[in-house]
Amino acid sequence: MNNPFENEERAAFRETVRRFVETEVTPHADEWDEAGEVPWALHEKVGALGAFGFGVSEKYGGLGFDDCFMRAAFSEEFAMCGATGIPAALGGRGISIGPIEKLASEEIKDRVLEDIVLGRKGSSLGITEPSGGSDVARLKTNARLDGNHWVINGSKTFITGGMKSDYFVIGARTGDEGLFGVSLFFVDADTPGFSRSSLGKKMGWWASDTAALYLDDVRVPAENMLGDQNMGFIQIMQNFNYERIAMVAGMLGMMKVCLNESISWAQERETFGKPLIKHQVIRHKIADMSAKIDQIEAYLNQICWHANEGEMPVAEICKAKFSASKALEFCASEAMQILGGAGYLRGNPVERVYREVKVNAIGGGSEEIMRDLAVRQMGL
Ligand SMILES: Cc1cc2nc3c(=O)[nH]c(=O)nc-3n(C[C@H](O)[C@H](O)[C@H](O)COP(=O)(O)OP(=O)(O)OC[C@H]3O[C@@H](n4cnc5c(N)ncnc54)[C@H](O)[C@@H]3O)c2cc1C
Repeated sequence: MNNPFENEERAAFRETVRRFVETEVTPHADEWDEAGEVPWALHEKVGALGAFGFGVSEKYGGLGFDDCFMRAAFSEEFAMCGATGIPAALGGRGISIGPIEKLASEEIKDRVLEDIVLGRKGSSLGITEPSGGSDVARLKTNARLDGNHWVINGSKTFITGGMKSDYFVIGARTGDEGLFGVSLFFVDADTPGFSRSSLGKKMGWWASDTAALYLDDVRVPAENMLGDQNMGFIQIMQNFNYERIAMVAGMLGMMKVCLNESISWAQERETFGKPLIKHQVIRHKIADMSAKIDQIEAYLNQICWHANEGEMPVAEICKAKFSASKALEFCASEAMQILGGAGYLRGNPVERVYREVKVNAIGGGSEEIMRDLAVRQMGL
């Protein structure tokens, strides 16, 4: 189906990303995933495409405009390389640029933003702690004011890109318990007292590193507080919106990988004297996968239209995220079944997608938390 919201600029941007992914990413996907990292040049090449510049002024290397459809097209097309650890390796930047761009002082922005947006430096978002990630209002890392510095103590875990990033947006408690006691801080990785270690091997997203961060009397200037004191919870929740939209779009790309791989295998493979694609059970699997893809795509387009109108549809974003992870789980499982033993072999994109379903069902707000938030948005 044609996308009714497509226009010339969006189509051109999607085509540019698609060509880039086909020529510069997909041929290396296996190698980078097995190696557990992407070359730094990839950050810079993707920065040059403008992919980190949405909503960022041209003064800081950004595009000077925002467009949810283009953001989504980037995530979807990138996921079609079949190894979403690769966009994740770049993606710590995607989820931390927003707070820096919106809330940091001019001095910080002048110093770091262009380097981040153009991929010369990395940045990550540090919210989740060893005591838990779902209940953000209860985070324990704390910051106390000492003269004109904040002194931060605590630890973070599961931080995407955390081993390589130069800059961090860190959530810390500056007030009482609960929602209105949390603030955000900009922290340079070379600040004394800051250290990190790799979480090691993961089920999926091999190409991206995931770190634990330790903040031991990390002193940052008072100006490093991002936005207003004790308003961090709301800022974190607002920042989640584009992260979740990007995840829905990425899952859409992964579902398309499952469908495409299934169709080409089923056309090629013969069983019981005819191509697999001629067996009705297989045809129904293809129909079911295709219908789920259409549903998520239509939902995503509707969400992007509202986001562009300035009315962020929070309930729909939450519902789309858990619907997409459930649809992806279905498509990955059905694709694996259609491919049979071939799908079980390492190096097959379906094998990787299958392993990368769960990070989408947990990261950026789990399915359970998404359902909770959606119902709360319904006033219940
Ligand atoms: C690969 C990866 C990358 C990540 N990258 C980042 C990052 O860059 N920055 C960052 O800050 N975080 C990151 N995260 C953390 C992620 O956001 C958290 O894992 C997620 O929010 C869930 O937190 P948790 O793992 O601590 O689970 P918990 O909060 O301990 O929850 C455990 C389980 O219980 C369920 N649960 C919790 N509360 C309820 C409830 N009230 N009702 C029903 N069920 C409930 C949850 O849904 C979950 O299934 C990443 C995670 C992964 C796996």
